[in-house]
Amino acid sequence: MLVRVYVGNIVHSLNANELEILSDGIVGVDEKGKILFKQTGSLEDALLAHGSYYNIDDENTIAEVEIVETVGNQFFVPGFIDTHIHASQYPNVGIFGHSTLLDWLETYTFPLEGSYTDTNRAAEVYNKVVSRGLANGTTMASYYGTIHVPATVCLAQIAQQLGQRALVGRVCMERFCPEAVQDASIESDRDFVDKVLALDETGQHVKPIITPRFAPSCTMETMKGLAKLARERDLPIQTHISENSREIAWVKDLFPECENYTDVYDKANLLKHDTVLAHAVHLADSEVEVIKKRDSGISHCPVSNASIASGIAPIKSYLDKNVKVSLGSDVSGGFTTSILANAREALLMSRLLSERTGNSNDVLSVGNVLFIATLGGAEVCNASNFVGNFAVGKQWDAQLINLDVEGSPVDVFSWQLPKDPVERIEHLVHKWMYVGDDRNTAKVWVDGKLVVDK
Ligand SMILES: [Zn+2]
Repeated sequence: MLVRVYVGNIVHSLNANELEILSDGIVGVDEKGKILFKQTGSLEDALLAHGSYYNIDDENTIAEVEIVETVGNQFFVPGFIDTHIHASQYPNVGIFGHSTLLDWLETYTFPLEGSYTDTNRAAEVYNKVVSRGLANGTTMASYYGTIHVPATVCLAQIAQQLGQRALVGRVCMERFCPEAVQDASIESDRDFVDKVLALDETGQHVKPIITPRFAPSCTMETMKGLAKLARERDLPIQTHISENSREIAWVKDLFPECENYTDVYDKANLLKHDTVLAHAVHLADSEVEVIKKRDSGISHCPVSNASIASGIAPIKSYLDKNVKVSLGSDVSGGFTTSILANAREALLMSRLLSERTGNSNDVLSVGNVLFIATLGGAEVCNASNFVGNFAVGKQWDAQLINLDVEGSPVDVFSWQLPKDPVERIEHLVHKWMYVGDDRNTAKVWVDGKLVVDK
């Protein structure tokens, strides 16, 4: 039954290159948050056509369905999907000194992760990081916890309580790290998987994701065991790939029988349609081909890649090759939970890359980065059948962006706005992308439920 109608400026991705912008959009949603229709034109006609009596001149009829309408410089966009975030590292955001990946892990990351034997500490951190993500418009995230089963189950419970969709991974690692962060036993993973699956039978809110940290952390035998578990239980997989040159050389030494980094995961059977590969900065063309063939997806983490000086991933060329690409905050290699900030960084990094390659095709557009922040994320997380854009039949996971909000970092000059209504919204979207922040995220819905209302 129709219970709510979202009316006005609506922006969402149809694919990597196409944004649909409606200035007179009408999206009807049922009591379970499912989108029943999306159309343009007269609200009265739309409601009548969908069986709800509505008379715009009669205030008494308005209560039949709730109407949420954009006013001024506001627009609806789909919720962001953060496909790579280490919830456990959140206290370390902003703290990375002059490190790069391998010394950063030793100095900052492993000592903090080791402390999550204290589930109370974990709960404090996880409440903060999930709330911060929601306040930034992130309606779904693929999380790394730690090796600890109780603390990581707690992360799944907190995401569920606060209303954010989450893939939650118990990190599996057994070597080249302190003993306090080693646990690669398949029994721990089975225990974790059972506990998280018991929280949500639909799997659309919280779901376990099998998480070998990265190739150096696990033996081939362990990775094969994890791949078997993921395939038996039909669960997604996440790991890191090809982040920095020293790491890539190390993987080559550790797995001399494999052709390259991607081949390590391929030989371990870890590459499938719902495998999330974070970074993918320095892949050879042959590796990109294998990732595409296995239908695995990439999580681009531009803020992290700049912060710990990993390099610039050629994201536009991946999109042009029809490889699935999404955005990840990679907290705390990345210093912000904001996917908007990561989308902006992706734009800037693609421009720097094109300067280096001399290829203007390397430049990402605002439409490209909005896609990887939303629908691209849904595709990578195997969730595009129920979230990612405002297609009929999907769930209403959305943000109301308000550039007029008090304290907004965006100044809009009415005389500068294009007359054409669609061009006007495009102008606002560009302003938001480059200048906006979480102050502009006025409301957030997951499954049609209002989870943030500032
Ligand atoms: Zn990471």
